[in-house]
Amino acid sequence: MLAQREHAGYPNVDLGGAAPVLDKNGKPLRGKAAPPYVENGVIIGRFKFIKMIGGGGFGQIYRVVHIEDGNLIAAGKIEPQGQDQGRMILECQVLVLMRGKHHFPTMYCSGDYGRFNFIIMELLGRNLTDIRKRTRNKRMSVISTFKIGIQSTDAFETLHREGYVHRDIKPSNMCVGHADRGNTVYLVDFGMARRFLNKNGNNFRPPRHYAAFRGTMRYVSIRVHERREQTPTDDLISLYYTLIELCEGSLPWRLLTDHDEILTQKLRYDKHKLFMYTPKAMEEFYEHINNLSYNEMPNYDKIREIFQKCLPYGVRCDDPFDWDED
Ligand code: ADP
Repeated sequence: MLAQREHAGYPNVDLGGAAPVLDKNGKPLRGKAAPPYVENGVIIGRFKFIKMIGGGGFGQIYRVVHIEDGNLIAAGKIEPQGQDQGRMILECQVLVLMRGKHHFPTMYCSGDYGRFNFIIMELLGRNLTDIRKRTRNKRMSVISTFKIGIQSTDAFETLHREGYVHRDIKPSNMCVGHADRGNTVYLVDFGMARRFLNKNGNNFRPPRHYAAFRGTMRYVSIRVHERREQTPTDDLISLYYTLIELCEGSLPWRLLTDHDEILTQKLRYDKHKLFMYTPKAMEEFYEHINNLSYNEMPNYDKIREIFQKCLPYGVRCDDPFDWDED
């Protein structure tokens, strides 16, 4: 079994001959811009990368089969080595810490191959952007949105209590589980995570005077636009924008790319105008997170309660999702 072979660190395994495709300036092409790195290739003699199923800004994600145990399927994430490889090392650290925890894909092993680094982990289902786009109205029902809200709050609580903020919360970094785990929401992509608690885990690290931008412009909080240090609150504000996008179908600044214009819209937008289909309870959620001070943990119970109020009596957050797909 793959799980029995797993190792936690960052082992130096079989160096293969695979090499990234370079752009005009000699830099590796990344993510979706690059042709599939390893389609049908075998890594460290054990994992066959069958088909690309996702590409982010950096890595490519494949459906992977274990060579000796054809029934064992997994997901393989692969990234060219180079300047940004710290992201994958960080991702491994977080995945090791979260191993066995609900809402996080289990990491089986990690290593390097040729001029790539890779992670083999639990295969998940589709991400929430893909699911939303396939629904009839390009938006999710209130029930699905708030079930996702409760499950995400559980996931954040687990991650934050381990001392990490995710810093890139958005619908494409949330997936449902594979096959019979389709009712569970998982967080992916920990390459931008940061430890916000000190070594002892009892206090917030002091904020830096200036924190470089981390995240995705459409979903980051106003504090992130202002280059302030991120805390659990900022993950929750990204969840706020995420849930509105899922429930409404879009955010008003979806077509903008300029940093200042997006910030202006976020500052200016009357919250009430953001909600056509979203219940008012979303305002209560925003009030709670927006009033937290730098080193205050969110009240996760209160947030779950707010979201639960939007679900019909008796509906649980882990009841099967009922996507209204074409
Ligand atoms: P990047 O770090 O390059 O942005 P991500 O980790 O965000 O890459 O993954 C990109 C996409 O791949 C995600 O949006 C998701 O759809 C898919 N994905 C990520 N992890 C898995 C997984 N374990 N199983 C299935 N699909 C995944």
